[in-house]
Amino acid sequence: MMYAQVIIAISSRQLDRAFDYSIPASLAQQVTIGSRVVAPFGPSKKEGFVVGLSDTCELPREKIKAILTVRNGGPVFDEERLALARFMRERYRATLYDCIRCMTPRGIECRDNLAKKQKFASLNYDNDLLEDLLEEIPQNSAQERIVEFLREHESAAVSDIKLLLRVSASPIQTLVKKEIITVEEVELLRDTVDYSASEPAARPELTLQQAGALTSIELAYPRTVLLHGATGSGKTEVYMRLIESAVSQGRTAIMLVPEIALTPQTVAVFTNRFGPLVSVTHSRLSLGERYDQWKKARDGIISIMIGARSALFTPFKNLGVIIIDEEHEKTYQSETTPKYTAKEVAEERARLAGAQLVLGSATPGVTTYYEARQGRLALVKMPERVNKTAPRIFVADMRAELAGGNMSVFSGALRAALEQTLRQGRQSILFLNRRGHSTFVSCRQCGAVMTCENCNVNYTYHLQTNQLMCHYCGKKVKNPTNCPVCGSRHIKYFGLGTQRLETEFKKLFPTAKALRMDMDTTSGKSSHERILSAFRNAEADTLIGTQMIAKGLDFPNVSLVGIVAADLSLNTGDFRAGETTFQLLTQVAGRAGRAALAGDVYIQTYNPEHYSIKFARQNNYEEFYEHEIILRRQMMYPPFCDIFCVLFIGESEKNIIILLTKLLEIMKSYNRKGLFEMIGPAPAVVSKVKNRYRWKLIIKSQDGEKLKNFTHYCVDKLKESENVENITINLTFNPALII
Ligand code: ADP
Ligand code: ZN
Ligand code: ZN
Repeated sequence: MMYAQVIIAISSRQLDRAFDYSIPASLAQQVTIGSRVVAPFGPSKKEGFVVGLSDTCELPREKIKAILTVRNGGPVFDEERLALARFMRERYRATLYDCIRCMTPRGIECRDNLAKKQKFASLNYDNDLLEDLLEEIPQNSAQERIVEFLREHESAAVSDIKLLLRVSASPIQTLVKKEIITVEEVELLRDTVDYSASEPAARPELTLQQAGALTSIELAYPRTVLLHGATGSGKTEVYMRLIESAVSQGRTAIMLVPEIALTPQTVAVFTNRFGPLVSVTHSRLSLGERYDQWKKARDGIISIMIGARSALFTPFKNLGVIIIDEEHEKTYQSETTPKYTAKEVAEERARLAGAQLVLGSATPGVTTYYEARQGRLALVKMPERVNKTAPRIFVADMRAELAGGNMSVFSGALRAALEQTLRQGRQSILFLNRRGHSTFVSCRQCGAVMTCENCNVNYTYHLQTNQLMCHYCGKKVKNPTNCPVCGSRHIKYFGLGTQRLETEFKKLFPTAKALRMDMDTTSGKSSHERILSAFRNAEADTLIGTQMIAKGLDFPNVSLVGIVAADLSLNTGDFRAGETTFQLLTQVAGRAGRAALAGDVYIQTYNPEHYSIKFARQNNYEEFYEHEIILRRQMMYPPFCDIFCVLFIGESEKNIIILLTKLLEIMKSYNRKGLFEMIGPAPAVVSKVKNRYRWKLIIKSQDGEKLKNFTHYCVDKLKESENVENITINLTFNPALII
C-alpha cells in the first residue's frame, strides 16, 4: 500500500498542510510528486497536488480515504520546484497552495479547454499491403485521392486534407470505418514566436570589456552576480553568451525582462541567435498559449525562456543560468499573493538547481548595489558603451525660464533643439513622467518643494481642505501662501499631462507630426506596438509619451530626447524618488545616441542642483549611490531597515482610521524592546478607489524576520478583538511601489 500527501487546492491558512490519502493500485503508476489529483475532502471532492509519497501512514486504516482520479497531462512540478514553493511559503507567509499555483500555468484547471487539438489522419498499412486494399476503394473517388495523398505524406491534418484535396468529411469517415486510415486527436503546442521570420545572425566578436565581464561572471559562481553595465555597453551579448554556454552543456536558461521591454525587437535578437530553442511568455498571451510554452519547457522542446516575472517558474530541468535584466525594475515585485520578490526567488531557484544568477542593470537598485558593496553579490562592471559615444546631456533651469518671462512648458534650449532636429529630418522623443499620483506643491521661483521634515518626503496637496499632508506619517500643515525659502508668491501645485504637452507642441510646431503614447492611447491590445512601429517607420517626427517609452526601445533615427518635467518623478512622495529619478533619467538618456547618430538629451527641472539630476547628467552612478546611501542611513530607510506596510481598505474612512489606531496601540503594547518603529496612520498615496478609503500604517525594523512575525501577530490580535469583516487588510513587506 502506498500513500500520498496532498495539498488541497484551497487557499486557506487553516488548511495549509498536507492530507494523507491512499493510492489505489490502479493509479499507482500515475501518482508522482506534482500530480494533480482529485480526492474526497469533507463532504465533497476537491482537487489537490501530490507533495509527498510514503509507504506508511499514521492515520488508522478506516479513516484514510483513497485518491479518486489523477488528472492527465503529467506532473505540474518536480521536487526542485516543490522545494522552491516551500521556500516561498516560509518567506512570504503564503499558503503552500498559493505558492504551488505560481509553479502551474494559469488556468490549468481547464487544461482541456486550453489545449489546442487537431485531428490527424494516417494510414494503417504499409505500402506493400496497400495494393490489395485499393480494391475496396472506388476508382477516381475522393477516397482514392485521400489514400494516395497519405501514401505520399504518411500523416496529415484532416483540415489540410479537406482543404488541399477539396474533399468533405464523409470520404474520410468512410476510410476510417473501413479501417484503412486512423484519425487521432493530437495536442498542438502553439508558438509565441515567429521562428520563420528569424534570420540567423553572426555572433559579433566580444569587446574586451565583454570578454572580461564573462570571465569574471564565470569565476564568481556560485555567487550571484550584479552586472553593472552602462546603457549600450552590450549587456545583451553577455547574456547571450552565458545562455549559449549553458545550452551547449545541455542545460537550460531563463531570462527575465520587464514586461514593458518584451518587444518583438528584443525577442528577435534571441531567436536570430537561438532559433526554436527559445520561447517567450508574457501576460498579453492567451492562457492557452502560455500553457503551451510551459509544456514545451517541461517536455524539453525548448531550452531558453524569456519572459516577465512569472517566467521564473518555467518548468525546466537542469537549469544552468537565470538572468534578470533591468534588475532595478519594480515589476519584479509581485503585488499579489504570494507577494514575492523575483530576485530572492531566483536566487533560491539557482541555489537549488546549481545554476548561476546574473542581475543586470545600468542603474542597479540602491539596495542591490549595497549588497554588492557588502560583498554578498559579486560586482562586475562594464562602464563603456560599445560604440564609445555618450549622449550629451543638458539641463534647462525652469526657474530661470520663468524669470526670463517664458511661461511655456518648453525651455528656450529644448525648443531650439526640437526645431533643429525637425529641420535635419531626425526624430525626437518627449518624455513626461507621470508616475505617482500625488500633487506636490513647489515654488516656481526657487524650486523649493514643501516637504515633511520627519520623513524627507514631499507633502501632498489636498484641495478640499487647502492643506498639505505627509502620506508617510500623516502630519498636516496649512498650505503656505509664500515660499518658506525665498518668500515668493509663485507657489503652486504641479500638474502637466501628456495631452497638454501635445497641444503645446502642436502650437509651436504646427507642421510637425507627433504621436502620443500613454494610458489613453494604448488601451487596445496591440496599440502599443502600432504606435512604436509607426514611429520607427518615420510616420511621425516626435513621440510624446509617459514612462512607457522609457526603456528597452531602440530607434536609430532618434537624436533628441527631452525630459519635460524631471520634477514629476523627484516629488512622488516616496523615499525612493531620488533613486527612481536617477534611473529614469539615465534610462531615457540611454535611448538617445544608441546608433550611429550622436544623441542630445535635455532635462527640464526647477531643481537642477538635485543630486539625482546632477549625477545623471554626469552619467555617474557611483557618486549618485554614495549620496543616496548616506541619506538612507540618516533617515533609516532600506537597506538599513525593512519596511512593513499595513493597508486598510474600507467604505467608512472613520472606521478604518479607528481600527488602524487600535492596531497601532496593540503594536505599541508589544513593542517593549523598541525593535519596531511605527509611522502613521496616514492615507495611502492612492487614498480612495471606487469609494473605498485606503489608509496605511508603516512599521520599520532592522530585523526583517522579527518584523514579519510582529506585524502578523499584532494584526491577528486586532482580528481577535475587533470586527474587521467590512475592511480589507493588505500586508506588504518592503513594498516596491509607493502605497
Ligand atoms: P545594453 O543592453 O547594455 O544597453 P546592448 O546590448 O543593447 O546594450 O548593446 C548596444 C549595441 O551594441 C547594440 O546595438 C548591440 O548590437 C551592439 N553590440 C553589442 N556587443 C557588440 C559587439 N561585441 N560588437 C559589436 N556590436 C556590439
Ligand atoms: Zn521659493
Ligand atoms: Zn512625514
